[in-house]
Amino acid sequence: MKDILIVGTGIAGCSLAWKYHLAGKSVVLLGDRKKGSSAVAAGVYNPTILKRFTAVWKAQELLDYMLPFYQEIEQITKHKLLHSSPILRRFHDEREVKTWNKKALRPELEPFIKPVTVKKDINGIDAPYGYGLVASAGWLDTVAFMKATCDFFLNEDQFIEEPLDHDVLQVQKDYINYKSIKASYIIFAEGYKMLQNPFFNELPLQGNKGEVITIKVPGLKLDHTIKSSVFIMPYKQDLFWVGATYNRDELSDQPTEAAHEFLTSRLERFLTLPYEIVDHKYGIRPTTIDRRPFVGHHQQYKNVFVFNGMGSRAVLLAPWAANELYNHMYHQQELHPEINIARFNKP
Ligand SMILES: Cc1cc2nc3c(=O)[nH]c(=O)nc-3n(C[C@H](O)[C@H](O)[C@H](O)COP(=O)(O)OP(=O)(O)OC[C@H]3O[C@@H](n4cnc5c(N)ncnc54)[C@H](O)[C@@H]3O)c2cc1C
Repeated sequence: MKDILIVGTGIAGCSLAWKYHLAGKSVVLLGDRKKGSSAVAAGVYNPTILKRFTAVWKAQELLDYMLPFYQEIEQITKHKLLHSSPILRRFHDEREVKTWNKKALRPELEPFIKPVTVKKDINGIDAPYGYGLVASAGWLDTVAFMKATCDFFLNEDQFIEEPLDHDVLQVQKDYINYKSIKASYIIFAEGYKMLQNPFFNELPLQGNKGEVITIKVPGLKLDHTIKSSVFIMPYKQDLFWVGATYNRDELSDQPTEAAHEFLTSRLERFLTLPYEIVDHKYGIRPTTIDRRPFVGHHQQYKNVFVFNGMGSRAVLLAPWAANELYNHMYHQQELHPEINIARFNKP
């Protein structure tokens, strides 16, 4: 019998698989490898919210857990996955500069930003009011992370590529059975597709469609990500990511003209060099009504778990949340009440 069957190979499922494997548990990772939100994500980790100039919930704790976590996986898989890319928040006007300087003194933001304006002359970027710097930011190559993870578990004979049919799953008191797999626990990390899972489809998951474009800008030299009303992030030589949109209403399975128009019009407010669009991708973020993940066991079946709702911060959140779940399952540690799905339990 295996310890854990994990369903889904996005950022969430892959983070879980590593956590449990490295803690010595026997894991079966099962996924259809269809492109979910993680295949579209720019993979940015950023402890601050640059729209409102606030810190992310538990920012320092998440960052402290996340960095060594991915670094260990880099060492094991021998793939470069994490890229440091400090963020320059482009100020729109003098008022924003003042707000930044004031908020930078708040204790929760102090570790991440300073009350100074960075005046940096970047050829091709118009920024008359300068920038604020977030040094402890970067990005995870999510596609490489998922591939390296599936390859690793495949090599260990612990990966199955197929969709899980919920009707075939048998839940017994002390174990679960799925086809030939018998395991103590099953954890569903299905992203937005959770809404098709009969065990958890009553949780208030909200889809939030995001679109990004990849552009080619010969001559633009960026060693930072620039965040204005959209971000532009260096990807590979001459290629940059521009994103993202947020849309809860239009969840169609295709890129939209409206997102194209939004991204390019915002970009052209500060990019002064000619560019060419080489790709346009979209995905549905699994977001939650209270902006906290869904972690925990089914109200009736104590061996059936969910790990979802990573919203727009899976890279930062998933490793920490996987550790919380592990400690809950194996060290009787209470799940943080804000992530525990028991908050939605029916009386
Ligand atoms: C445009 C855009 C930009 C983003 N940028 C960032 C960013 O910069 N930083 C960040 O941290 N986050 C970002 N996000 C959010 C991030 O992508 C999500 O939070 C994250 O991908 C969710 O991961 P997941 O593993 O829960 O779901 P998914 O990535 O959707 O993965 C779930 C996987 O499980 C599979 N699956 C589902 N059900 C089954 C089943 N029954 N059987 C087998 N397989 C199944 C799916 O097909 C899929 O492959 C962005 C999202 C979008 C759309």
